[in-house]
Amino acid sequence: MKKRVLILGGGFGGIATAHKLKEKLRDEVEVILVDKRPYFMVGFRKSWALIGESPLEDGQKPIDNLTKIGVDVRRGIIEKINPAEKSAIVDGEEIRADALVVALGAELNPNAISGFKEHAYNVYDPDDIPRAEKALSEFKGGRLVIGVFGAPYKCSPAPYEMALLIKEKFKTRNVKANVIVFSPQPKSLPILNAESCDAFEYTLEDHAIMFYPNHKATSIEAGKVIFDDKQIEFDLLLGVPPHRAPQVVRDSGLVGASGWVEINSRTMETSFENVYAIGDVTHVTLANKKPLPKAGLFAELMGETVAERIASIFSGQEPTATFTGEGGCYLEVGKGKARMIKGNFLAEPEPIVTLTEASVEYFEEKKKFESERLQKWFG
Ligand SMILES: Cc1cc2nc3c(=O)[nH]c(=O)nc-3n(C[C@H](O)[C@H](O)[C@H](O)COP(=O)(O)OP(=O)(O)OC[C@H]3O[C@@H](n4cnc5c(N)ncnc54)[C@H](O)[C@@H]3O)c2cc1C
Repeated sequence: MKKRVLILGGGFGGIATAHKLKEKLRDEVEVILVDKRPYFMVGFRKSWALIGESPLEDGQKPIDNLTKIGVDVRRGIIEKINPAEKSAIVDGEEIRADALVVALGAELNPNAISGFKEHAYNVYDPDDIPRAEKALSEFKGGRLVIGVFGAPYKCSPAPYEMALLIKEKFKTRNVKANVIVFSPQPKSLPILNAESCDAFEYTLEDHAIMFYPNHKATSIEAGKVIFDDKQIEFDLLLGVPPHRAPQVVRDSGLVGASGWVEINSRTMETSFENVYAIGDVTHVTLANKKPLPKAGLFAELMGETVAERIASIFSGQEPTATFTGEGGCYLEVGKGKARMIKGNFLAEPEPIVTLTEASVEYFEEKKKFESERLQKWFG
């Protein structure tokens, strides 16, 4: 009988897994992919939509298009995961499989901060981007605060990228603003060494962007963010809410002490046989004890690794594919340029990760990062 793989989540990781499985095994495997969201979109679309550069819709593709390569796409809410049985309940229906891949991403939790919903624009939520874009385009000047309200969070450079792009927009509109970014983390980009972080933080200063590290906000009131020992006033607050593993994953027994699914960093195996977890829902500790950043490229590469391993196992071979930890994330800096945080994140005795200089080439690569995936996965 045909073997079945059940993929929970149709974001970067889930789609890459489905695509690679079909490429390797074609009709010899049944692939079911479940997501509540009808479309795929890359994360950095939000930065472009926020500054009014390009709408979210221009980068969205229906996940249903995967049916063209033989994937059984199910739109629905995953209500329960039973890793011991390699099964899940989707809108009341139980789906069992021979291998289970959990790719459910990170859930945004604005409720963890009192006042977030009332006073902040959630710039990580596509549904709140139109409201945020309007507020920014009508902003006449004053204190613009970009707050990171928890860590880990997706794409660590994104809040700084937003600050730089907004600053550039304000310049062309002649808007006078004090731009502040705060973060609970001790450094702007903690995956880099202290020297590179300092250099990046000087760049922010050069753009008149104030950076406040070690700032863990406790609540928000009208016009001010509250910390234990101080408050920061704002005229407009763009917020990155705390993240957590989705409820259905937290209830599944897959989550470890980190609050995320702890996996083998090379094979993506969980503690349950033939159950894998990939992407933002996972926690991978690097050699320097820091977590692997949550990035779409890593979710994709993990998904491809898992697909290769499942394909080998289903074909009666020893699986050899492993996740190398090589990759990175773009950081757009304005003037049509981008930098990249890249390297070998799983290197021993410590990650080899650098921040490149800004270039037009990296910005072109960033645009291609989106267009190539939309083309490859959705035709
Ligand atoms: C502003 C911003 C900029 C970014 N820039 C970059 C970048 O430059 N490069 C980069 O590599 N990454 C970037 N990222 C990060 C990237 O978007 C994420 O790391 C990536 O989406 C993670 O992929 P994933 O497959 O793990 O999860 P996701 O892509 O989040 O997919 C998870 C899927 O699970 C579904 N789901 C969850 N719970 C349920 C449920 N109960 N039932 C049904 N479906 C469910 C969701 O609908 C979702 O589609 C950025 C993110 C943001 C917010």
